[in-house]
Amino acid sequence: MDEADNFNFNKYWGPDDYRPRVVFKRCSDMQCVYCGEIANTREHCPSKVFLAKPYPADLPVVPACEKCNNGFSSDELYTKVFIEAYEQHCSYKSKTSLSERKEVKEARRKFEECISSGEIHFDNRISRILIKLAICHMTYELTTGFYKDTWEGVPEYVSYTFRPNMTTEEIESWDDFIIMNDNLLPIIGSRAFNHIYVLEPVLSAFDDKGEVIKKPFIVMDWIDVQDNNYRYVCWLDKTYMNILIAIDEFLYAKVMFKQKNNLSEGG
Ligand SMILES: [Zn+2]
Repeated sequence: MDEADNFNFNKYWGPDDYRPRVVFKRCSDMQCVYCGEIANTREHCPSKVFLAKPYPADLPVVPACEKCNNGFSSDELYTKVFIEAYEQHCSYKSKTSLSERKEVKEARRKFEECISSGEIHFDNRISRILIKLAICHMTYELTTGFYKDTWEGVPEYVSYTFRPNMTTEEIESWDDFIIMNDNLLPIIGSRAFNHIYVLEPVLSAFDDKGEVIKKPFIVMDWIDVQDNNYRYVCWLDKTYMNILIAIDEFLYAKVMFKQKNNLSEGG
């Protein structure tokens, strides 16, 4: 085993005053990532319902209070089942079916409704879960986005689409690094620094304005939680906290929170 194998990508090196909200550690003062109250439970991000067994050993966790932690499980199961029903409908994946709980039946019925009407509607329960996942990811990676700090619980933008409704180019674009041109770096010591790389320019590299990139540039890489099941990336720009999430390589979501503070001054 070499040095790299021992390196803990989940370790938080940042300022101590953020620790209660971004590090889960029993017998310490922890604050709920969602509501800011005293936290006593561990919130996996993402929740295990979106992953397959065996689960990754180093699954990210943040502190949450019991009320918030339990408050999402029904909608999470609903979201997962809705995605699976669509996957099965398209023969994209055949999966073992989840137990016939209320949420499972509800999600399947909702999906059937959507398909027979010829349209996949925007679903409040699914978007609620995408926002919830986004909060966890930006807290964990960027050391921001938790309650009381930079948002008031209302994201500026949430959207999602499913693979069958996308062009090949659109799908491929979800494999790209995020180029950090005009973007801000997170607070020093944030976990996201483990996913930032400096790349040398190659002839085929273009920036977001279509100009050839001549100088080395900084990119943010995706975080693969589990191959083909779940990955995400989050970054900051001057106005927004941005989070992209790909579930099952089938649902592709973007969530944006407007920043209240200038985070470049926070690090
Ligand atoms: Zn809470």
